[in-house]
Amino acid sequence: MTIHADALKDFRQTHRGDLITPQDPRYEEARRVWNAMIDRRPAVIARPRGAADVIACVRFAQTSNLPVAIRGGGHNIAGRSVCDEGLVIDFGDMKGIRIDPAAKTARAEPGLRWTEFDRETQAFGLATTGGTIGDTGIAGLTLGGGFGWLEGKLGMTVDNVLGADVVLADGRLVHASSTENTDLFWALRGGGGNFGVVTSFEYRLHEVGPMIIGGLVVHPFPRAKETLKFFAEFMRTAPDELVAAAVLMTGPDGHKACGIAAAYPGDLAQGARIVAPIKQFGPPVMDVMGPMPYLAQQALIDAAMPPNVLNYWKAEFLRDVSDDVIDAAVDAFGRVPSPMSSILFFPIRGAASRVSPDATAFPHRRGYHMGIYSLWTDRRQNDANVAWVRQTWTAIQPFVAGAVYVNELGDDEGVDRVRMAYGMNYDRLQRIKAKYDPRNLFCLNANIAPAVV
Ligand SMILES: Cc1cc2nc3c(=O)[nH]c(=O)nc-3n(C[C@H](O)[C@H](O)[C@H](O)COP(=O)(O)OP(=O)(O)OC[C@H]3O[C@@H](n4cnc5c(N)ncnc54)[C@H](O)[C@@H]3O)c2cc1C
Repeated sequence: MTIHADALKDFRQTHRGDLITPQDPRYEEARRVWNAMIDRRPAVIARPRGAADVIACVRFAQTSNLPVAIRGGGHNIAGRSVCDEGLVIDFGDMKGIRIDPAAKTARAEPGLRWTEFDRETQAFGLATTGGTIGDTGIAGLTLGGGFGWLEGKLGMTVDNVLGADVVLADGRLVHASSTENTDLFWALRGGGGNFGVVTSFEYRLHEVGPMIIGGLVVHPFPRAKETLKFFAEFMRTAPDELVAAAVLMTGPDGHKACGIAAAYPGDLAQGARIVAPIKQFGPPVMDVMGPMPYLAQQALIDAAMPPNVLNYWKAEFLRDVSDDVIDAAVDAFGRVPSPMSSILFFPIRGAASRVSPDATAFPHRRGYHMGIYSLWTDRRQNDANVAWVRQTWTAIQPFVAGAVYVNELGDDEGVDRVRMAYGMNYDRLQRIKAKYDPRNLFCLNANIAPAVV
C-alpha cells in the first residue's frame, strides 16, 4: 500500500509523537514484537504522546484507508499488534501512571508493562491482578481478561477496571465506565481491541504485600504424573486466595521437571500453613516457596519466557486437570523438542470465578487455562516445534471444555476458535461492535464481526 506523501506530511503536522517509516534507522527494531516468528512490515509506526495523537492516527488511517494495528506491550502471540503495509499505533511512549492512594485507584497509560505498573503501585503498598510475566503489556492483557497470581483474592484484571478513555473509529474520544457508555465498558472488559483505542485505563487497587507467600517447588520429571495429580487434588479444597499453577518444564540443569508455583497474598503465617502440603509433597528437588516480596513473585518466571525467541502456542480451557489430561500432557512433554518449551496449568478461581460469565465480556471463569508453549531459537527447528504443539493439543481434545483464552489465540486459528474465545457473549459483542465500529476499522485482533443491523 502506498501512502500519499501529502497525507503523510499532514499526519506529521497533527501528530506530536514520533512517526517511524521504513526509511527510518529505528524501523527494524520498532516493527519487532515479542514473538520472533512474526515478521511484518508496517507502512508507518506512530508513537503517540497523548489522546490527541491517537485521534490523529485514527483519522489518518481512515483517510488513507490503512489497516490499523494497536500495540501495548507487543506480547500477543499471534503478533496482532503489528501489520503489513498499515499503521501501527505503538504506545511505547505512553507510560504515564498516577496512583490515588486514598481512593486506591491507578490511572495508567497503555504503554506500561506489568513490571512498571507493579513498581508504581507497590510504592503505595497497593496492587491489582496483573500478568505473571513482567514484560507483558497491561493493555492487551487487560482488554482480553487477565489472569494472574492475585485473581483468587481480587478477581481478574478486567474485574478491577473502573473505566477507560477510548478513541473510537470515528475519531471521538469517549470515556467508558459503569455510568458512561456502559455497553462499551462491558465490551472492553474481555472484547479486546475491537471497539477502539484505549488511551488510559483506570484500575481499582488493593492492599497487597509488600511481602506475600509465593515461589516455586520443583519435582523430577519421572514423578510428573504423581505431582500433577497431587496438584489437581490439592486445588479442589485450597482456599480461594491461593493461586497455584503447575508447569511441565526443563530446568536450568537440562532435566525435565514438574513445578508448582503458588501465591498467597494474605497473612504470612496463614499462607505458610496453606502452602505447607505443597512443600511437604515429594520431596521436591527444589523448594523456593515462602515469604517473598510481591514484586519478586511477579518476576518469578520472567526468565522462562524471554523476548525475541521463536514461539508457537496453543491454549485451551479445561474443567479440571483430569487424569486423562495429565497422562496426555506428561507423555507429550516426554517428547518435547525444545528445552525452552513448557505446558502450563493455571486455574481461574476464587474471586475470578465468583463473577458471572456475562458480567463482563470475559466469560470463562472456571477450571484451568492450559497453555502449550513452544519456544526455540533455531529456525531450522520450526516444523518440529510447531508439530509438537499441534500433536499435544490434538491429544488433549477429548478432555477439553470447548473454550479458549482470547489472549492466547494463535495466528492460524479460524473463526470458530474466535467465537469459542468469546463464548456466550459473542452475539452481544457483535451488536456493540456494530454500534462503535460498524466498518470494522479495528479488525487486526481476535475479530468480532459487526452484527448486521
Ligand atoms: C510471555 C507471556 C506471558 C503471558 N502471561 C499472561 C498472564 O499471566 N495472564 C494473562 O492473562 N495473559 C498472559 N499472556 C497473554 C497476554 O495477555 C497477551 O499476550 C496480551 O495480548 C499481551 O498484551 P500486550 O499489550 O503486551 O499485547 P500487544 O501485542 O501489544 O496487544 C495485543 C492486542 O491488544 C489490543 N490492544 C493493545 N493495546 C491496546 C489499546 N491501547 N487499545 C485497544 N486495543 C489494544 C490490540 O488488539 C492488540 O493487537 C502472556 C503472554 C506472553 C507472551
